[in-house]
Amino acid sequence: MVYSIAIIPGDGIGPEIMDATLRVLESIDIEFDSRIVEAGDKAFREHGSYLPNDTLEAARKSDAVLKGPIGESAKHVVLPLRQDLGLFANLRPAKSIQGINTRLMADEEVDLLIVRENSEGLYSRVGGRKADVSFDIKITTRQASENIMRLGCHQARERRKLVTVVHKANVLQSDLLFQEVCHEVGREYDDLKIEQMYVDNCAYQLIREPSQFDVIVTPNLYGDILSDEASWVQGGLGLSPGANIGNLRGMFEPVHGAAFDIAKQNVANPIAMILSAVMMLDWLGTTHSDEQSSKWAHRIETAVNTTILQGHRTRDLGGKLTTKEFASHIIRNL
Ligand code: ATP
Repeated sequence: MVYSIAIIPGDGIGPEIMDATLRVLESIDIEFDSRIVEAGDKAFREHGSYLPNDTLEAARKSDAVLKGPIGESAKHVVLPLRQDLGLFANLRPAKSIQGINTRLMADEEVDLLIVRENSEGLYSRVGGRKADVSFDIKITTRQASENIMRLGCHQARERRKLVTVVHKANVLQSDLLFQEVCHEVGREYDDLKIEQMYVDNCAYQLIREPSQFDVIVTPNLYGDILSDEASWVQGGLGLSPGANIGNLRGMFEPVHGAAFDIAKQNVANPIAMILSAVMMLDWLGTTHSDEQSSKWAHRIETAVNTTILQGHRTRDLGGKLTTKEFASHIIRNL
């Protein structure tokens, strides 16, 4: 199997962590037909467009998109790509890595998955401004709510069989529909435990006792915020990968942004980007029934864990290794 991959390095630390990730992918036994294309701040400076047609075409034609973080122009790149490719779900796992210091209780482990609705909600880009009044309209549809809940339930079946539906249905009409649809869909999955939680309480519980969660299904904005919080709980933004998936396509990107404060210094942590590639291999393996791809996904994740256990760290985790040196340790462990 040869997979065609559109690679968007992005802005800020994007090119550095993408370079580390591509070196890891080059060292495994899977063939890629990859094409590097531009999007974001740099693409605008050089081509006059945040998302050049060539990039969009490459993304449409590929089996998957591997994307680094985008800078100030993220909303002109990420939202259109998600919409154009029909990526209605954003999967953001937060999983403890042994050896990484967190503020969790000593024996507490986190292994949760945030399943965030990715196509509507407050990010529908419907709104306006008149003088000193501005508004964004939060759109919730039965179809999108059903799609995301079904996906969350399928994910939970492969995990610990618990789904927490997170919303603010006690206040917002749009969330009431979300809650009702999730409740209806949840009744079809009698092998799962389905719970409801208000988003403010969820933010609190994520810090208080994160191990209580397995799969969290939630609308767009809440998922965006809660996943940054979950990143911190897990050990830091540099560790958190993400996947945007639809029925046919997938785009894989770290949760963190372009981190301009540390760009071009070769100090960024590449783990979130590398684990995003792991999610890509896993997804390709599942969607193409390709055991090799799933096997390499697992091996890369193990190599990352081993590298951390051996004491190797980038600066954000209290170490001294550069991005390149850290990637070399992962490749050696692979
Ligand atoms: P966005 O709004 O696009 O999410 P942001 O400016 O809110 O971006 P980030 O760019 O994600 O936030 O950076 C937040 C902080 O985390 C910064 O101090 C940055 O240096 C740090 N950070 C983010 N990613 C990494 C990484 N991979 N390695 C090390 N530090 C990182």
